[in-house]
Amino acid sequence: MKFLNLQQKLSAWKEQDLYRQRKTVSSPQQTEICVDGKTLVNFASNDYLGLANNLAAINALKVTADEYGFGGGASHMICGHQQPHQKLEEALASFVGRESVITFSSGYIANLSLLQSLATKGDVIIADKLNHASLIDGVRLSEASSSRYQHLDLSKLSQRLSQTTQNKFVVTDSVFSMDGDLAPLKEIAQLCEKHNAILIVDDAHGFGVLGQSGRGCIEHFNLSQKQLPVYMATLSKALGGYGAFVAGEKKLTDFLLQFARGYIYTTAMPAAIASANLANLNYLKSNLQLNTQLHKNIQLLKQLCQKNAIKLLKSKTAIQPIVIGSSEKLLKINKRLLDAGYLLGAIRPPTVSKNSARLRITLSAQHNQQQIEKLVAVLAVALNSQLND
Ligand SMILES: *Cc1c(COP(=O)(O)O)cnc(C)c1O
Repeated sequence: MKFLNLQQKLSAWKEQDLYRQRKTVSSPQQTEICVDGKTLVNFASNDYLGLANNLAAINALKVTADEYGFGGGASHMICGHQQPHQKLEEALASFVGRESVITFSSGYIANLSLLQSLATKGDVIIADKLNHASLIDGVRLSEASSSRYQHLDLSKLSQRLSQTTQNKFVVTDSVFSMDGDLAPLKEIAQLCEKHNAILIVDDAHGFGVLGQSGRGCIEHFNLSQKQLPVYMATLSKALGGYGAFVAGEKKLTDFLLQFARGYIYTTAMPAAIASANLANLNYLKSNLQLNTQLHKNIQLLKQLCQKNAIKLLKSKTAIQPIVIGSSEKLLKINKRLLDAGYLLGAIRPPTVSKNSARLRITLSAQHNQQQIEKLVAVLAVALNSQLND
């Protein structure tokens, strides 16, 4: 192990204030969680609708475990594909208005698999610079060549598209995970159509959040299967569960079933998890007020921050970041917030670019008005104290 210099690399990482530590949580995911024995108000999770601890999902999990047991047993192709997986895929396809769906064990695996199988030697992948790590890694895994355009820069994207004569893909997040902003998918889809490129969108933070009924960017931008042929979303954020899916034409999901290595060479998610995901999907469909409440909470936070001269990034989604700059400063502010009982995302490089370390507030439909008001009050103090340090 000596040549690895692990200790040296870890020490250097610490010196740059980039060393991260896990917190051990001893409660379910909800707006108040117990972290290392202390109760904190949780503004850090991706559980946007509060479904991670939803009774309907917990019951489905129990009932299906009684019927199907615990383990997935094998990959989908061998004998791991059980009725709960099949039902979940059919329900998801009908919800997002696509011909067919294939589920994956996680969003990370889905993105690796998608790009590895669809984009082959001689093709070009054109990607937004701020895409999620899983899409970046998927590009690396694919044998296609790639190019990245400045974040949301349509003229750059258009330029790249017209310069590329090969088969091409445009790959983007719908909602960017560290900024909360939206890709202009209508315009991107038009550019793809004009230049004969295939659009792949990762809607991890849009699914369940965007659109009147939570159908994600498909609903928000009203994108047909032709305009957005490869739609990917996770079951692990707004749906509060675990896993991911890709939706599109039947021949797309058939192709992934044959060639997506991250689908073929991994064990199916336990049937009980598939059932719990389905229970939350059904719950979401009949509880549209959750989505409405989430957007009310987003508005409230934005108003209160504006009143208190707290500068948020331009975001209309559940992800509301405050850029701080240096990691050192971020950690100091974050410590004050933790001491006051508030847990936020403290995001540092390399997850975000240098000198753009940030607090990331993520909202849930379950936050109440008082929690949001107190958060802003505590934030105002913590950010101000930093100015005077
Ligand atoms: C969280 C996330 C993923 C990964 O999904 P998991 O199911 O957690 O593996 C992929 N893409 C984006 C944009 C994400 O935010």
